[in-house]
Amino acid sequence: MERYANRSIDLWDLADVYEWEFDTAVPEEFPSTPKCKDMRGLYYKQGLEYLSNFPGYDDKKILGVEKKFDYEIDDWIFNGIIDLIMEDEEGRLIIQDYKSKSAFKSKKEQAEYARQLYLYSLYVKREYGKYPDLLRFVMFRKGITVDIPFDETKLQEALAWARETVKEIRECWVYDASPDDFYCQHLCDHREHCEFKN
Ligand code: SF4
Repeated sequence: MERYANRSIDLWDLADVYEWEFDTAVPEEFPSTPKCKDMRGLYYKQGLEYLSNFPGYDDKKILGVEKKFDYEIDDWIFNGIIDLIMEDEEGRLIIQDYKSKSAFKSKKEQAEYARQLYLYSLYVKREYGKYPDLLRFVMFRKGITVDIPFDETKLQEALAWARETVKEIRECWVYDASPDDFYCQHLCDHREHCEFKN
């Protein structure tokens, strides 16, 4: 999607390039779960389906792709990489983020994820002189688009959350283990050596 947005791959080649490059780009084993024994196959198929049906961004103006930024907040620096910044056919400024999650479990979870895009909007305001109109999540595996209209109160809440989190990190000197079966068995980088995982 990055290469498409940067115009180095044409729309009609997206699915082919995905098929050619998938094994090289994704060399890791996928975990199997009781619900899904072939997660790799499932992700592959869903990704291919998304790209085969993707209509392209011809009607949009691309403003930024994988936009890396630093933003000073108090005495620390918030940095992020925005998947896509664009203006749609109605002139609305959109921050877009691709997610491999299939859906948000609840409104609460969606609001927690939206903090990330609200914090990105600080950079958008600095760069483009206005806040975005829409924060957009694209859950490509299920072809779901979630649009969240920008709300300045929510931005202030996200900022307060970020400040509180930085304060907590700075004040914390003891990090208790919080083992989680799936994470410990399949994902954590310390799982080969960790004494807490069992
Ligand atoms: S393996 Fe250890 S460090 Fe990793 S998540 Fe589990 S408990 Fe935490």
